[in-house]
Amino acid sequence: MSIPHNQTAAIVHKAGGSIVVHDDHPVKKQSDLAPGECLVKLHCTGVCHTDLHCALDDWPLKANIPLIGGHEGVGEIVAIGAHTSHSPVKVGDRVGIKWLADSCLNCEQCRKGHCDDAKLSGFNVDGTFSQYVVSYVRHVTPIPEGFDSLAAASILCAGVTVYRALKYSQTSPGDWVVLPGAGGGLGHLAIQYAKHMGLRTIAIDSGADKKKLCEELGADLWIDFRESKNIVGDIVRATDGQGAHSAIVTAASASGYQQAIEYLRKGGTLMAVGLPGQATLDASIFFTVFKSISILGSYVGNRQDAKEAIDIAARGGVKCHYAVRKANELQDVYESMKKGTISGRVVVDWRET
Ligand SMILES: [Zn+2]
Ligand SMILES: [Zn+2]
Repeated sequence: MSIPHNQTAAIVHKAGGSIVVHDDHPVKKQSDLAPGECLVKLHCTGVCHTDLHCALDDWPLKANIPLIGGHEGVGEIVAIGAHTSHSPVKVGDRVGIKWLADSCLNCEQCRKGHCDDAKLSGFNVDGTFSQYVVSYVRHVTPIPEGFDSLAAASILCAGVTVYRALKYSQTSPGDWVVLPGAGGGLGHLAIQYAKHMGLRTIAIDSGADKKKLCEELGADLWIDFRESKNIVGDIVRATDGQGAHSAIVTAASASGYQQAIEYLRKGGTLMAVGLPGQATLDASIFFTVFKSISILGSYVGNRQDAKEAIDIAARGGVKCHYAVRKANELQDVYESMKKGTISGRVVVDWRET
């Protein structure tokens, strides 16, 4: 396969600025790839709320700007750096690129699954909003044969993130899990992974489109937060007066935490997943203690979580609902994300560029 010198890439040049699409961004040459690096020709990439935070630069951690965002890429390996040993993948393999692009594998945190010196796609290394991306053979996720690239893309961040949160939520089949933001990118996948694990789901969101999506995906109870007079009361009533066993809070804001402490049953688990830049967790200490509530942070997932989430989706257990857009529509997509009007996920198809 011949690799071009230049490519189309969507670049944020300054914090808070708009995305500019260039068609003359250089592609790293095979001879410039370091051992362990691979060059991936992308088929497509999902767009995540995190990409918006990186472009706006509104997190306590700072992105490397100018920046090529994106961390839900699927594509084909077209080159691997010379002197790469023990590569688990080869040229021609279809792989996924995730938020965690590479880790040192040597620090204390790495041995436990959280590298202190991680390379993060679309944050401190260039991500997947380009036709070609440099990634790392140890961390790319092989995509099973027959699993469509567009369908796989958003499993790599949104899917893995909610899958891991559910996996560590200390729930058992039949338990009730509350999903605020259930009609969004993470939420609609959470409904499906939860069903796959035998959990019963309470979907909270707003609007006719999101209601339809949540109900089609099998949510056991729908609550429109704009229409409900008493969300806590609605949840407690639906769960035999006891409250839900767990809540997966994916919202990119502080709202939802106090409420979760109120509607969780004794011994319940609050999984904090969304990453608002400035908000603090405001929950009743009294009731957290009195009800023995566990509040756990859950950050994306490790390579094994990614494999499990991808495998479940590849077998048809979970389907991402997405709209396909072009690279030059990314700025529009960001504007829609700010308004919270996207149901499901957006995937950019690089083969259409
Ligand atoms: Zn993401
Ligand atoms: Zn490390």
